[in-house]
Amino acid sequence: MSDQESLQEWIEKGKKVEVSLKVAHQEATTGEVYTYCMNSSERLVHAGKYWGGCWLAALGAVFIPVAHFVLVPLFLIAGPIIGIIKFGQERVILGGRGSCPACSKELWIDSTVEKWPFGEVCSGCGVELSIEAEAESEAEAEAKSQA
Ligand SMILES: [Zn+2]
Repeated sequence: MSDQESLQEWIEKGKKVEVSLKVAHQEATTGEVYTYCMNSSERLVHAGKYWGGCWLAALGAVFIPVAHFVLVPLFLIAGPIIGIIKFGQERVILGGRGSCPACSKELWIDSTVEKWPFGEVCSGCGVELSIEAEAESEAEAEAKSQA
């Protein structure tokens, strides 16, 4: 799927939040991200993917000599723990875009848990950016009142 197609999907599904992209010693640029609030069945699917992924990793680790003594139980335990953490994560950022303040290249923001501000690494120059919601967004205020 191309970035443009993902963008179309985010616009349809999510809620737009204006953001500023900041890098030390550079003028901030603006961008947009799309946030989404998952319902319980979506969260279950989301959590199940991580849980299943861990257990698949455990299965794969069975074939690694010696290391399997550690890895197999580790992945087996990690599955439900990560699953439960993921299930508790209701608000996510589907993705977004902006331009890098350092190299001004177009930047695509990966999906992540909604938590402000968050970091992203520019694929153009490798600089680490901080992404903040412009002013106090509605989504942010809502997230705070729930906390
Ligand atoms: Zn850059």
